[in-house]
Amino acid sequence: MQFRDLRKQYQILKQDIDKEIQCVLTDGNYISGYQVEELEKQLAEYVGTKYCISCGNGTDALSLALMVWNVGAGDAVFVPDFTFFASGETPAYRGAVPIFVDVEKDTFNISPTSLEHAIIKVKEEGKLNPKVIIAVDLFGQPADYPEIKKIAEKYNLLILEDGAQGFGGRIGKQRACSFGDISTTSFFPAKPLGCYGDGGAIFTDQDEWAQLLKSYQVHGKGKNKYDNVRIGVNSRLDTLQAAVLLVKLRAFKEYELNAVNQVAERYTQSLKEFVQIPEIKANYYSSWAQYSILLEDEEMRNSLQSYLKEKGIPTMVYYSKPMSQQTAFRGDDCIKVELPVTEQLCQQILALPLHPYMETEEQERVIDHIKEFFSCKERI
Ligand SMILES: *Cc1c(COP(=O)(O)O)cnc(C)c1O
Repeated sequence: MQFRDLRKQYQILKQDIDKEIQCVLTDGNYISGYQVEELEKQLAEYVGTKYCISCGNGTDALSLALMVWNVGAGDAVFVPDFTFFASGETPAYRGAVPIFVDVEKDTFNISPTSLEHAIIKVKEEGKLNPKVIIAVDLFGQPADYPEIKKIAEKYNLLILEDGAQGFGGRIGKQRACSFGDISTTSFFPAKPLGCYGDGGAIFTDQDEWAQLLKSYQVHGKGKNKYDNVRIGVNSRLDTLQAAVLLVKLRAFKEYELNAVNQVAERYTQSLKEFVQIPEIKANYYSSWAQYSILLEDEEMRNSLQSYLKEKGIPTMVYYSKPMSQQTAFRGDDCIKVELPVTEQLCQQILALPLHPYMETEEQERVIDHIKEFFSCKERI
């Protein structure tokens, strides 16, 4: 059994993907082919923003947004403690100080209460200039943007939506990657919408930021790439990846997002009596980058994981370490507030196999083995 079966997806989309790849190879526009522009147009339309700028990966997407806002030394950037490293790495890389904020136990997303505490603390200390909130749509569910927006307005902060796992999610009718002043996503193969290598995109409604993003991503270009008006980077989406994404986006919209929600719903119905299942807030819709359950404690989590492994069922621990405890952040280069929820989640969480092409029988095996694990426990 595969944790996320990308080969199966390829087998199903093979004809179209092979054709599109062949088309790129024959055309020879390996950089900035028409597929890149077409993809950006379709992504912006789907997400509901004025601009989509594709780039090299989801980490660059975050960095480019921070470059546009001139985030650097002396600035404080608020980041959830429970996320993938890139969310905290990028502000630190720009020279800003990441302030790690706790998350909510039920949704795993940034806690507005903890966020406001952290902002007040930084303001009271008076050493740093609070500038950006990086809100992550963890495991596919959008963060609590209605609350985050109130806080951002109150303290005059910018919102950067890290939608690397969130593409396809919604709050009401509004789609993920449109909630931030700038929003980003990743097309790493295992993300909800993935390509066959690295890729990413940035979304915004602001004309000026869009122009700056397009400049920064191509060596700070002015009139063209040999007219360099600022120091930038080289971060573009390959034409080949855009071609693959055009096919995959169609499948994502037509049935994959729906299918993965059905798989998640089946887990929820079958497992809710046995483990703590992930909560999706009312009026929210997840793209289910991960389906993560919570066990009583670390020992129980590890023992279920080994049990499932023996039965040939792959599981993953996202994440086993709070961001604030990563070796890279051990120095004075970050600030931590109280982070009890994240510390607990790291011990209790376990992600189950999940993807749009998961067969019912395959999923029944996972569910049966989990139930079996708990009935064995009871007998002991
Ligand atoms: C994957 C991921 C990223 C980085 O994306 P890459 O394309 O791998 O650089 C950033 N933030 C989060 C939350 C992610 O899950």
